[in-house]
Amino acid sequence: MKFGGTSVGTPQRMNQVLGLITVENTPTIVVLSALSGTTNALVNISNAIAEGDRKGAGKKIDDLEKHYREFVQTLVQTEDARQKANAIVSEHFEFLHIILKISFSEALNKDILAQGELLSTKLFSVFLEEKNIDHVLLPALEFMSIDASEEPQIGSIKVKLSQLLQQHEDKKLFITQGYICRNVRGEVDNLKRGGSDYTASLVAAAIQADVCEIWTDINGMHNNDPRIVNKTIPVEHLSFDEAAELAYFGAKILHPACIWPARTYNIPVKLLNTMEPSAAGTTITQAAMSVGVKAVAAKDNINAIKIKSSRMLLAYGFLRRIFEVFEKYKTPIDMITTSEVAVSVTIDDSTNLQQIIKELEPLGNVETDTNQTIISIVGNEIAESPYILEKIFSSLKDIPVRMVSYGGSNHNISLLISTDNKQKALQLINVGVFGLE
Ligand code: ADP
Ligand code: ASP
Ligand code: MG
Repeated sequence: MKFGGTSVGTPQRMNQVLGLITVENTPTIVVLSALSGTTNALVNISNAIAEGDRKGAGKKIDDLEKHYREFVQTLVQTEDARQKANAIVSEHFEFLHIILKISFSEALNKDILAQGELLSTKLFSVFLEEKNIDHVLLPALEFMSIDASEEPQIGSIKVKLSQLLQQHEDKKLFITQGYICRNVRGEVDNLKRGGSDYTASLVAAAIQADVCEIWTDINGMHNNDPRIVNKTIPVEHLSFDEAAELAYFGAKILHPACIWPARTYNIPVKLLNTMEPSAAGTTITQAAMSVGVKAVAAKDNINAIKIKSSRMLLAYGFLRRIFEVFEKYKTPIDMITTSEVAVSVTIDDSTNLQQIIKELEPLGNVETDTNQTIISIVGNEIAESPYILEKIFSSLKDIPVRMVSYGGSNHNISLLISTDNKQKALQLINVGVFGLE
């Protein structure tokens, strides 16, 4: 069971979480995020330190500490529990103040970002202790690890986690941190923003869990982005393939990588609402229960690169030479379209964009468009949806579409548009494709 930031964001919510994890007596591993707002605050602290603004960083640390002191006052009542909880807050905020005096590095940044999950789990553990709920706090830094390519080491996670669990064979409830891990150098690292979902599916895979429940602040995966579109509805069932596409193409409810461990080890994933536990949510399993369109998602900060050659473009070997440039800079391509004279690709990691352009230039004329958004319409055998292409294109008739991609898989139609048109496009698709006003 994984609980996100909002699900543990107030003492009342932690109390709700307590109710949910103790309903059944099944052995359970609970993965917690940082309290909502904390990781963003830690990012700001880290940025201030990196910019040399130690005074500003110090002020931000004090503001965050104040929030935790107040949180603790409501979370626990007994003198003993308050003392313990306050000692935990002191320990972590003293650490942040010490960091202020050390010269900034990437490793230090990761140490700062890890404080949120360390705090939330330790405070939750004190809360459980006060309620006499038997449990074990499992330190994620002792079993969760990534390799030199920043990929989770599932084999090693499995071995280390089962060793830890064997030490507590008589226990049924385990609490651990989402998001944080150790890297190949043994330093504290993380699974990128939103990474607690990933922790949960990796843990579920490692212990071959019956189910991986992602508890959040909404009734499962909706058909469209509820932050942007007014009327969205939950999708009851998704296949792993459908969910993976939606997560990768921007449905924030799931970390982009969190489906693969569940798919590999065939563990059902459920998306549930902490604030409304009786709602059905979304169940994600291997099989797709129906054909046709299920949901749409949008991914921002996309750069489109067009390589136009005067020579016969699709001569063999040409695509390889293009791809080699992206491979060299470890930059994944999301979308690709070709014509006789040009190839267009999109990337979301612009770290090495300038070098990539420079190395592509000998291959042809290179043009880039920034501030693009990929709109992905997802559903098993999507082309089986009656008139689906007609519905998509007639919905978007006033919006210039830069690229179209279909056929890579049977469950995704992707379009590239300018980010300025994203809100309008999602709303129009909601009406034209899903029939929701
Ligand atoms: P948590 O803190 O629990 O991990 P997140 O904020 O990461 O929660 O994810 C849940 C949020 O994802 C929802 O509140 C919602 O605003 C957003 N979201 C974006 N797209 C979707 C979608 N298609 N379905 C459901 N939620 C979505
Ligand atoms: N706390 C981390 C973040 O905000 C991880 C997570 O919540 O999933 O990105
Ligand atoms: Mg999240």
